[in-house]
Amino acid sequence: MNEQFLQYIWKYRLLNPDLLTVAGERLTVLHPGIQNTDGGPDFFNARIRISETVWAGNVELHYRSSDWIRHRHQFDPAYENVILHVVYENDQVIRQKQRELMPTLVMKNNFPSSIEDRYNEIMQNRNWIPCSRLLNGNASTVVRFWAPALAAERLNAKSSFIFRLLDEYSDWDEVLYILLSSGFGFRINALPFELLARSIPLKIVRKNADKLFSLESLFYGQSGLLGMHPRGKYPCSLQAEYRHQQSKYALKPLKQGIWKRLRLHPLNFPDIRISQLVQCLFSCKAEPGILINITEKDRLERFFQLSASEYWSTHYRFGKSSGKHEKKMGLPSASLLLINILAPYLFAYGSARDVSPLRMRALELLENMEGEENHETRMWRSLGVRAGNALESQALIQLKRNYCDHRRCLECRLGIKVLDKTFLK
Ligand code: SF4
Repeated sequence: MNEQFLQYIWKYRLLNPDLLTVAGERLTVLHPGIQNTDGGPDFFNARIRISETVWAGNVELHYRSSDWIRHRHQFDPAYENVILHVVYENDQVIRQKQRELMPTLVMKNNFPSSIEDRYNEIMQNRNWIPCSRLLNGNASTVVRFWAPALAAERLNAKSSFIFRLLDEYSDWDEVLYILLSSGFGFRINALPFELLARSIPLKIVRKNADKLFSLESLFYGQSGLLGMHPRGKYPCSLQAEYRHQQSKYALKPLKQGIWKRLRLHPLNFPDIRISQLVQCLFSCKAEPGILINITEKDRLERFFQLSASEYWSTHYRFGKSSGKHEKKMGLPSASLLLINILAPYLFAYGSARDVSPLRMRALELLENMEGEENHETRMWRSLGVRAGNALESQALIQLKRNYCDHRRCLECRLGIKVLDKTFLK
């Protein structure tokens, strides 16, 4: 039992209908008021009736009535307009300034104990989703209605990183270039790809934007993947071109050891993804900003289904030949770039410039895309909660990571339902 739970009971009017104040007067809650998350009373502008008199003002909740004194509210003018003190236990008589008794409601035994039982069960449960035992077929519908707000929360959280990059570079194109590059590393090599982009300023990429081979030499040389003594015609040519560019632009390459291949499918090896990133930059002429002008989801998906250069048709790594196989980015990977990079960028760009249509486009882009297939969405599905599109899969990820994992059940729209006994299986 905590104050947050008591506030929840008050806010959602879950108290029993027949209430009496500590003084024995009949109490009716006409409106619980607006919850205040800043300093001051917990609820503003509540309306209650005590006996025959209607009161409008603020409500303060505490676990014990003595907390009023402990928190020194008797000396704080912000609490002068409190019309009702709602407590779980009345362990001390509280008087207002004029020495009158503070109208007090004791919550203990005044709300259904089943709500508290279910709340305690969720708080103690160690399942992947703590309320999973209480979910029923309505859960998908609840999430579907909440999905736009949850997905917007997730995009908003991702915007923080984008704004930090903007602070650093003061250039939206440079920010998108770094983000896109990190996207080509997907989860495992996102950081090395970000560092690779940071090591080659966009202005240098632009100077070489019309020469695919020069771009390849820049990126492979900077990645450190060419090694000291490359073998084969193509790697040696890249090395020679890179040496020239390295001294021209005073570049410092990354260490080869930062790249990860363990447990990666060879198609995801950084060697292949770098070639596809270079294709991406070559295709947009090193102007990544043009991508946000493309409004058709299909066109964007097609754009990102990029093929690695010819050498990689017979290689997964430099110097090690393999059977012939075109290394083209598949639709699922292209979609991930849209979901994880373009949509957050659009949203952040729209937020910074206060352009709502851009934020809406980010949400619509997600809504028009298939939901991701990953561990989190599979787990939700096993509980009967399905993501119908990427907006909903992003919403489910947000719900799990930002609500369930922190037990924010009292702020969760599913929580409101599962604590209500009519929602039980
Ligand atoms: S945050 Fe919501 S979905 Fe997650 S465990 Fe709590 S009530 Fe359930």
